[in-house]
Amino acid sequence: QPVIEVLELGKTYTSGGVTTTVLSDVDFRVEAGEIFAIVGPSGAGKSTLAQCINLLERPTSGNVIVNGKNLTQLGSRDLRAARRSIGTVFQSSSLLSRRTAAQNVALPLNYLGVTSTATRERVAELLDRVGLTDLADRYPHQLSGGQRQRVGIARALALRPSVLLSDEATSGLDPEATDSFLRLLTELRDELSLAVVFITHEMDTIVKVADSVARLDNGRIDEKGSLVDLLLDD
Ligand code: ADP
Ligand code: ADP
Repeated sequence: QPVIEVLELGKTYTSGGVTTTVLSDVDFRVEAGEIFAIVGPSGAGKSTLAQCINLLERPTSGNVIVNGKNLTQLGSRDLRAARRSIGTVFQSSSLLSRRTAAQNVALPLNYLGVTSTATRERVAELLDRVGLTDLADRYPHQLSGGQRQRVGIARALALRPSVLLSDEATSGLDPEATDSFLRLLTELRDELSLAVVFITHEMDTIVKVADSVARLDNGRIDEKGSLVDLLLDD
């Protein structure tokens, strides 16, 4: 029973009469408690795919279905609500630089109009879970790269999504911070039964966390399977 289904997703851009196909027939499903990794070189279409999955970009064709709801068929108002089921951790650092760690985590709750008491409680709970209680009032530039990505995870989980999308979240982290981030991701996956879509160009990273893997090349998934399958193939 998949939490998220990406079905025959395609994305083309047209400018000056020239059409560029960035994604074609991207197709996969991720279940609760599964980490599905998408690995590919620069230019493969990974960031475009990430943006299409959380509907920051509209796919040209295909569907994104989360908990049985087809997000690609929703109008902008329903889409805004439905997008809450996908939390995204972006490449470092997508935090607002003039807001503290706590204020960054509070952002999705603020947009939603959650009361300040409830927000404060939820933010404290999230910061505690990612081990940053003591650093709540620091600004992003006062945090290490690894700490910033933990704030990013906390913010992504603020609205209790069922899908966590990680878009190059460990790129730019040193090996120690990367391992610590991956450990946290795995723990949260287990605790919250998250369906995780983990997009990266770092093969050595997915080996540590992925339950299944797809290889994206030239906008297409050219291989898909368990980690063992993919490694044996090389
Ligand atoms: P990756 O994240 O894997 O490096 P991207 O998704 O950034 O790949 O880009 C994949 C391809 O799509 C690149 O060739 C890029 O030039 C092209 N592309 C991305 N965005 C646009 C756009 N807005 N218009 C035209 N081409 C684009
Ligand atoms: P306020 O002045 O109302 O606290 P802020 O702009 O300072 O507003 O913070 C924005 C949000 O971030 C608030 O809703 C608050 O719940 C949360 N927040 C700020 N600092 C902390 C903290 N140290 N611990 C928990 N939540 C915090």
